[in-house]
Parts: sequence; structure tokens; C-alpha cells
Amino acid sequence: MSAQLTLFAEPALTSEPKRARRIHHSVPEVPSTTVPTALLRAADWILLNSSGGKDSQAMASHVCRLAAKLGILRRVVIVHADLGDVEWGGTRKLAEEQARRLGVRFEVVKAEGGDLLARTVARFFKLKAKAEREAAEQGLDPTTVKVAPAWPSSAARWCTSDLKRGPIRKLMTALVAELGDLGRPARILNCMGQRAAESAPRAKLAAVEIDRPASNGKRHITTWRPIHGWSDIEVWKEIARSGLPYHEAYDWGMSRLSCSFCVLGCEADVVLAARLRPKKAVEYVAVEKKVGADFKHGLSMRQIVQRARALDAEHGELRRPPRGTALSGYVGKKATRKYLARVERGRLALAA
Ligand code: SF4
Repeated sequence: MSAQLTLFAEPALTSEPKRARRIHHSVPEVPSTTVPTALLRAADWILLNSSGGKDSQAMASHVCRLAAKLGILRRVVIVHADLGDVEWGGTRKLAEEQARRLGVRFEVVKAEGGDLLARTVARFFKLKAKAEREAAEQGLDPTTVKVAPAWPSSAARWCTSDLKRGPIRKLMTALVAELGDLGRPARILNCMGQRAAESAPRAKLAAVEIDRPASNGKRHITTWRPIHGWSDIEVWKEIARSGLPYHEAYDWGMSRLSCSFCVLGCEADVVLAARLRPKKAVEYVAVEKKVGADFKHGLSMRQIVQRARALDAEHGELRRPPRGTALSGYVGKKATRKYLARVERGRLALAA
């Protein structure tokens, strides 16, 4: 007997049913306040998640300014989840440099078990083994099973949970241990640069909420999205005000940072990234072949590479744009010149 099994939903990789996780009785359902100064004052740690991208850096400089006014800058920690070679070069260093200029502690976390590409391949083999096992149990021909896509997607965003959220939670555990016994659960204000203007799912996120799954009897985590209501121009104005360096990928024309090839990125971004990182794009093509599925729903990396090559053939290789190109589009040339001078002064101070 033969049949095709298709697993569309995000599947559990073991046949054991997952036990519902009990949340400690002390963890509140809703935040006691949404007022920024009250949130900051109440926190034992103010953890700023930084991808090194424009939204994270605008969020970080904004929150640091508020924390400095309250005299609690020492409670601020910037954390960067290092994604290895799939993220734009220099991102980790940039996040560290931004933290140094803001005068706050910097931490890097990194998931064990390989980068996004290695994990996609490993995940494919796990999904395949599971589908074959289930087919055999049902008396079907295991060689005909169709395996669910191993790539992350908006419906199966394991890249964020495995590579960012999980390692950052380990840091939370370490930070709580540093506080010693407070006689109550530690309070961590976990700040994210997510904005409503980025996408419909992000627009639905609350500006402040209790992260109940990450909380327990020892720590209560409040998620705060300080720039949730900000527009692009407000973000760039904050960057100009802060004088913090931003990643050059924006000057090349990228609209987002983090992974050079994001499964959720728009076509223009991934094609541009393939022009800027052609060798990395070819590695993605090889993984597509190995796992038998397109990198993005409806758009394969093979097609992306073809489009990038066609653009190179038509227009020639991309030329490095002047520094400040992205910022200048939002705040004008004069403000950009001032900003670049401040970035440079910060660099000289570091060298001195
Ligand atoms: S940047 Fe995109 S692909 Fe990379 S971890 Fe985030 S969502 Fe996943």
C-alpha cells in the first residue's frame, strides 16, 4: 500500500504529547502599570534586546535616556543574540559599540547546536524520520511521505525561539542569580524594538504585557515595547539624535537587519542581500536542495539568486553608497552631516 502523508502544521518532533506548563501562582496576569517611568523604576533589571538593527538601537537609546534621567542606568543591560554567519557582518560588534557609547553593560548569548542553516537541515531529518515512523505505524509506504517544510516561517518561527528567545532566557536566569535573595521574585523589564508599523501581526502586540511563559516563582518578566507606536521617521530621528552608529546595510538599501536572508523579509531585501552576499546565498540554495523545500513560501533562494545575478548583469556590481545615505532620506543632508561628525568623534574618543 502506498499513500502520501503531508504535515502542514508545525509538528511536534516527538510522539509524546506535550504537558501543559504550569505557571507559578505569583505571576500576575496583567501588568500593574503601563507608565514608562513606573515600569523602569519597578525593574531590578532593564534588559534591552538588540539585534543591532535600527529599531533596536532607537529603542535602546530612548530607554537609556529615560533610565539615565531616573538615575538607574546601572540596571540596564543590552543583550545581543549572536546568529553567527547568517547575520550581517559586524552586527555583534556594532551592538557592543552602541552599548559602550550608551554607557551600559553588554552581553552576548549564542544558541548551542549550530546556526540557522545547520538547524534547518537537522530539523528536516527529524521531521522526515517522524513522518516515516508515522507512515509505517499506519501501514503506509514510508518512502512516499511528504515532509513538512523544515525552514522557519511565520507559522513556524522556531528560528526566533531557538536562536534568540531561548538563549536570552538563560541570561535572565543568570541575571536573577546575580541579585541574590530579594525576598520576592526579581522583576525584569524585557524591552523589545518591535513596532506596529512593521507588520499586521506586530500591530496586534501589546505595548506592555506580562511574559507568563518566561516567568516563574523566582522572576517576573514584563515585556515592554517602548517604540511600538513609532513611525520609520521617528526611529531615524532618534538615531540622528543619539549619534549612535547604525549598520551600513541600511545605506545599501536594506529595510531590516538581523539575518541577511530573513524568511519573513520582503523580496527586494532578499534579492539585494543576494547581490551583497552571493556566496552565502549559494549556501542557502544548497540547503534548499537538501531539505527539498523553498526558503520562503512561494519564493526559492534559487529564484532569488537568479534575480540578483540578472540585476548584476544589467546594472553591474553594486557600488558602496555614501555613509549616511539611509539617514539622509529621513532627516536631510545637514542633519546627517552633523550625525556623521558625532559618530566619528565617538570613534576617536574610543581610539584615544
Ligand atoms: S531575522 Fe528572520 S530568519 Fe532570522 S531569526 Fe529573525 S525571523 Fe528568523
